[in-house]
Amino acid sequence: MVFSSKFKLFPRLVSFTLACILLSLLAGCADQETATTTVPQPSPAAFKPDAPVSPVAPRAATPTEPPTSAPAFLPTATPVLPTPVVPVPTATPGHAPVNSTTTTATPAESQDQALAGYYPPTLPGLKVSDLPLVNGLPKIPLTNLSAASVVPAPARKANYGPNGQPKIGIQAGHWMIDQLPAPLASLRTQTGGSGGGVREVDYVLDVARRVQAILQAQGYQVDLLPATVPAGYTADSFVAIHADASTAGSPSGYKLARSRFSPIPVTDDALLYAVSDVYGAATGFRWDDNITRNMSGYYAFNSRRRVYAVSKGTPAIIIETGYLTNANDRDYLVAHKDVVADSIAHGVIKFINARPPLDQREKPSSTTPGVVVSQDTTPVFDQPGGKPIAYLTKDQRFEVYEIRDDYYGIFLPYLNKTAYLRRADATTVTLPR
Ligand SMILES: [Zn+2]
Repeated sequence: MVFSSKFKLFPRLVSFTLACILLSLLAGCADQETATTTVPQPSPAAFKPDAPVSPVAPRAATPTEPPTSAPAFLPTATPVLPTPVVPVPTATPGHAPVNSTTTTATPAESQDQALAGYYPPTLPGLKVSDLPLVNGLPKIPLTNLSAASVVPAPARKANYGPNGQPKIGIQAGHWMIDQLPAPLASLRTQTGGSGGGVREVDYVLDVARRVQAILQAQGYQVDLLPATVPAGYTADSFVAIHADASTAGSPSGYKLARSRFSPIPVTDDALLYAVSDVYGAATGFRWDDNITRNMSGYYAFNSRRRVYAVSKGTPAIIIETGYLTNANDRDYLVAHKDVVADSIAHGVIKFINARPPLDQREKPSSTTPGVVVSQDTTPVFDQPGGKPIAYLTKDQRFEVYEIRDDYYGIFLPYLNKTAYLRRADATTVTLPR
């Protein structure tokens, strides 16, 4: 599991999403990244591109129920904030310590706590205690968020493996999460769920190692990644593997999500559906489209961060393989690790084989929808229609990560909090990302 808070999308989001997709596509045309077209495609001897999609028999006991609706996403991004470089902890193979083996689900984390992990603690040069107060609340000074440094995007390649073959990053969810670097420190306690005596972190590490072995046997370069993603990590695909837990006990099925801030939403969706097609058919699990915002905002592919997230040209998804807290799901997951691993691996292979030539692939968008504050001392609220928590300065620009009711969801620098700005108090603008 990633987090347990549920997130239902709003109808208004749909139109905004379409606008964002359009923006993303337009932006992709203007992208200034240098395309490297001379990297040779791997020879057939290097790997087997036409590997069978799924040699495993579908699960017979449970009727197969294909996805009936696609998860909805909000492909926007957020302010470019300074990303201090912190040394990656030296990781040694092993299990991340988990506080308890008896809990059935990780407690829900507040949105602010979750989002705070994606940001540096403060912008340099100004402490929260230095902020001016208005009516007893802090006022955010005019700040040029886009002037902050960003990790440069890597050159585009046909494949990222050292020998020209595709390179795949497989992340075992929560593995060594206690070693996350300082900017992600608030996530170190997210040690994963458990159910029926099965710990998520143990289960997904086992599965991830199997996925790695299957892909390596097919000639792919595979990185088995812990919770900490190397700075600027770039690959042909990135899959974070998790297993779900719920305090309710009854939910079942698998989930897939890509970043709602994705710079390459079409490509991410292609990876998502490729894996889902194979996984759903092989396991017989139901697609659970109840995607949490913490899945679609998963730190390892959150485009707000570029230091400990995959680079913006890396297709990336997260899979919740099933519910450890549901006895039927758990029994199947534990008894059929080979099927779980094999279908994830072959879903990735299906995606890789279906990619268009490099020059026809989606280019990461270089802009994102944003807003500019219209008046000085504009209040922002803890939730739509909620209490004021701070004031903004005229002309301050923010990336918009969601629209709820008549409010824009933004992220406050210095305070490192989510906040809601009335739509009437801002005008829309396109921002670089
Ligand atoms: Zn998890």
